[in-house]
Amino acid sequence: MIWCSGWRLASAVSNAGGLGLIGAGSMYPDVLREHIQKCKAATDKPFGVNLPLLYPSIEEHIAIIIEEGVKIVFTSAGNPAKWTSYLKSHGITVVHVIANTKFAIKCQEAGVDAIVAEGFEAGGHNGREETTTLCLIPTVKEVCSLPLIAAGGIGSGNAIAAVMALGAEGAQIGSLFAASEESSAHPEFKKKITELKDGDTELSLKQLTPVRLIKNEFYQKVKIAEHQCASSEELQALLGRGRAKKGMFEGDMNEGELEIGQISSTIHQIKPAAQIMGELISDYNNSIQQLKPL
Ligand code: NDP
Ligand code: NDP
Repeated sequence: MIWCSGWRLASAVSNAGGLGLIGAGSMYPDVLREHIQKCKAATDKPFGVNLPLLYPSIEEHIAIIIEEGVKIVFTSAGNPAKWTSYLKSHGITVVHVIANTKFAIKCQEAGVDAIVAEGFEAGGHNGREETTTLCLIPTVKEVCSLPLIAAGGIGSGNAIAAVMALGAEGAQIGSLFAASEESSAHPEFKKKITELKDGDTELSLKQLTPVRLIKNEFYQKVKIAEHQCASSEELQALLGRGRAKKGMFEGDMNEGELEIGQISSTIHQIKPAAQIMGELISDYNNSIQQLKPL
């Protein structure tokens, strides 16, 4: 949710009954502080910060999170053993994002409070194993007793009911909110999301860091380079710096890196976050009522 989930979206989701998260990965430290302060002013409900552990200024981010009194942190893309006990010693609830059983076990050993199990369908950074949400949740449940939040491919109340049936305690949703009114993404990116069909995204750049991208001109260049057996250095040079910002924040639909999940094929309209939350809840309730015993 980098470049999409700032204080506006996080506070709107929290005010509508969800747990809004500020995506810190794309924020310089002073920007993160500003977003936390604005989020605190915009909601009296709980909210959290999503912090990719590979972020370059991680110590500064963590210091700000503690100083500003944030109570919930979602970590990802790094070993949870490094920061979990420190965050917890400051009274912070820690949730870590994983995409396979190996990392789920590491989360348990590190003492995190809950995990997000994110399947292959998800947008942006993703696991190498390509395990779908439908397979990941029961597999992780076999090895890990932590509360589990399912992610990847969830874009409706029906899908929330499906992951709950698999044993998840909650659902994390990105793509629907990336296209919400309060998302800080560029309007062209939001419009693009509403136009996507199934098959319009692909897990790319597996040689570097696997990331699900919209198949635009930049994606095609990556594809050609990969077919020509480009080295990691050549792919890194092609990727360059700041491509995600160029695409999702600055609105360059051709040369930017456009990260969105497979479920974007069902997103046809840009809506306020509160409306999305309301529809998710009512669809979930309808869905579980319609299910009948066999
Ligand atoms: P890699 O798969 O390239 O892993 C690099 C090394 O870092 C691993 O070998 C492992 O160390 C360690 N590591 C990485 N992620 C985790 C983790 N979640 N738990 C424990 N150890 C970890 O890392 P990627 O950057 O490709 O992404 C890893 C996961 O993080 C993905 O599955 C993705 O779902 C998630 N992610 C979430 C983001 C978000 O929500 N903001 C952003 C980026 C990624 P070791 O060798 O010791 O096992
Ligand atoms: P790049 O290295 O290509 O570019 C860095 C980008 O991050 C720039 O746009 C820069 O903004 C911004 N930025 C914010 N804080 C810093 C900082 N302290 N130092 C340098 N740059 C900073 O990285 P990406 O755009 O691919 O990724 C940025 C972050 O987002 C990473 O932390 C990564 O883990 C996370 N990420 C998470 C994903 C997810 O799925 N949740 C997916 C992809 C990335 P500016 O241009 O204004 O200098």
